[in-house]
Amino acid sequence: MRRYDADVLVIGAGPAGATVAYWLASWGFSVLMVEHYSLPRYKPCGGALTQRTLQWLQPLDVSPVLEAWVNTLVLQSPDGDRFTVTFPRPLIATTMRDKLDTFLVDTALAIGAKIRTKEPALRCEQHPERVEVITSKGSYAARVLVGADGANSVVAHQLNLKPKRRALSLVAELPPHTLDRWMGGIHLHFPLRLNGYAWCFPKGNHLSAGLYTLRSHLPNWRPWLDRYLTDLALQDDCQEMGARGHPIPLADKHTEFHRGAALVIGDAGGLADPFTGEGIAWAIRSARMASIFVRLFLEHEETDALEEYTQAVRKEILPEMAAAIRFAFVLFSLPRLSFRRFLQHERVLQNFAKLLSGEVSYQTLWRKTLHKAFLLLRS
Ligand SMILES: Cc1cc2nc3c(=O)[nH]c(=O)nc-3n(C[C@H](O)[C@H](O)[C@H](O)COP(=O)(O)OP(=O)(O)OC[C@H]3O[C@@H](n4cnc5c(N)ncnc54)[C@H](O)[C@@H]3O)c2cc1C
Repeated sequence: MRRYDADVLVIGAGPAGATVAYWLASWGFSVLMVEHYSLPRYKPCGGALTQRTLQWLQPLDVSPVLEAWVNTLVLQSPDGDRFTVTFPRPLIATTMRDKLDTFLVDTALAIGAKIRTKEPALRCEQHPERVEVITSKGSYAARVLVGADGANSVVAHQLNLKPKRRALSLVAELPPHTLDRWMGGIHLHFPLRLNGYAWCFPKGNHLSAGLYTLRSHLPNWRPWLDRYLTDLALQDDCQEMGARGHPIPLADKHTEFHRGAALVIGDAGGLADPFTGEGIAWAIRSARMASIFVRLFLEHEETDALEEYTQAVRKEILPEMAAAIRFAFVLFSLPRLSFRRFLQHERVLQNFAKLLSGEVSYQTLWRKTLHKAFLLLRS
């Protein structure tokens, strides 16, 4: 009788789940992904991939599913002033999530991982030598469970690993003809009191626009988006929009990322950038880290390996998130001042570009900013 259906059971086949499945399958472990929907499926997401994300994805090359490269940034202050910078290298690439996620899943399947789709996980149980997941169609047992089931993770909820804080984001895909009127580049606007920003950028044959806020509720989001689109003269193109706010969980220093033989990655662990709302990079990064600790656990019976995953996330990812949220607090709560003092300076924007490309960290930038503020106070 088989005791396990797979060495590793991965719940959720988004970027985090597909990446961890890819790495573990490439090392010869049996991996079963269990996904709620049939693929490809729509995922509300801006689909912006920074250079850092593309680096972290390597050796996987996702260029077949990229829609556009953008190297111009237009920043708009609360008073409507605009500053445009064009960088020599693209700042971001854009993708449609149905295509990206299917591409990553296919890559994992090609190397030996398996998947069950249209099968939501409902519950998970930890037993002395196995974890078990009960789905809408049956149950599966494995040696390790990876929760990669996104912002409303059943695994994180069941294992009491759910991050307490959350941000919100919503996206509207605009019709293709809006591209003809677009100024080009990524447009970011920081309205007073949103506690976040509004964005718009081209994505292949259309424009994608949305809001990101550190508020955990934005019941009346429509006027915010309408005002923004009016500003961009795009309001008439956005009438049939079914957009609504989606949570982006945010971990803090108290968050745990494992329990027994189970761990959480990506949005399930609250591993997204609290300043930009960028989560794909961190889904990939945490998936790669998790795969290494799961490998140690499986190959060497290192029972502490998953505990070490929590420690590694706290050491390598959370300090970066903590620095990111400091920038968010300053810029989102004092957007006018931030524009006057910082954002209209090309050097600051060059640093922001370096941040997105992974050349500099939030922690380094924060130290530099504090140093500059100190010098300003002394002068
Ligand atoms: C409006 C919006 C815009 C965003 N824009 C960007 C952006 O431009 N760039 C960026 O980097 N990040 C962006 N993000 C964040 C990004 O979408 C997430 O951080 C990223 O998708 C996390 O990847 P993941 O694999 O952890 O989770 P997901 O991509 O959410 O994947 C989770 C998977 O698990 C499946 N699942 C869920 N529950 C179950 C269950 N019970 N059983 C089985 N399967 C289940 C889901 O169907 C899904 O396929 C945005 C988020 C939002 C809401």
